[in-house]
Amino acid sequence: MKNEIYFRGWKKKKSRTEFICASCGKLFTPSRYNLEYWGVGYYLGSTNLDYKVFKCKCGNVVVIDVPTKYGQVNPQSLFSPERQFNQLERCESIDDELEFLYCKTDIDWLTADLLREKARRELGGVFSPFRRKRDNAGLLVDDDGIVGYQLWNVVDFSERKEVKLEETYAVGRQLYILPSKRRQGYARRLFNYWVSTYADPINDRFCVETPNREMVNLLDKLGFIEYDDDTIKLKRQKKCIILGGINFNIFSSNL
Ligand SMILES: [Zn+2]
Repeated sequence: MKNEIYFRGWKKKKSRTEFICASCGKLFTPSRYNLEYWGVGYYLGSTNLDYKVFKCKCGNVVVIDVPTKYGQVNPQSLFSPERQFNQLERCESIDDELEFLYCKTDIDWLTADLLREKARRELGGVFSPFRRKRDNAGLLVDDDGIVGYQLWNVVDFSERKEVKLEETYAVGRQLYILPSKRRQGYARRLFNYWVSTYADPINDRFCVETPNREMVNLLDKLGFIEYDDDTIKLKRQKKCIILGGINFNIFSSNL
């Protein structure tokens, strides 16, 4: 986690308004000149969690200001293994290494949103802002802290005429693993856990919306679809229904 730029916070608080950037070591004072609005206003409006992000010139997010009971938050603390804010007891065990934290509190959602913004900057606009009233999210946790997230919602397609589906399904919408945590099967284990725990109780089948190539390969590997990577053709949808086609425009190694 230590090398993940954007989230290193401050090293030593000199006063309430002065910090030392944990990434470049320069003195930092939050002001309107280094303020960036990331997800403010329209997706967390239902709970009035509008937060502000203050970024150092080096790119690191030093301070997050949550104008409720939390105040000035060190972003690193949101991802720390100590898991403040009573998250520890809510974690569900995926296996010996990984845990799943279903997003409930403002801080859970704030953490997921920081990851979403990181994903959007790395991979593009498909990582659109959450709508908390509609969406569900889960954070992926390992020994180092919070390292990824998955977003989904539950859709009753009988009311939606544009899709030829008539039942209610869980729809996987976003999945992201931090770069330093890739190539260890984290996405596969997170996704499998999500299918058995959150999607299966809704319907025997589930949907995934506009997956990228890595996601399609993952679905194929898990036996949920049949996909030919050479001809880039979807041969068969089995347990998984793909909505909106495959998005080949974004190439990433986010799994
Ligand atoms: Zn800096």
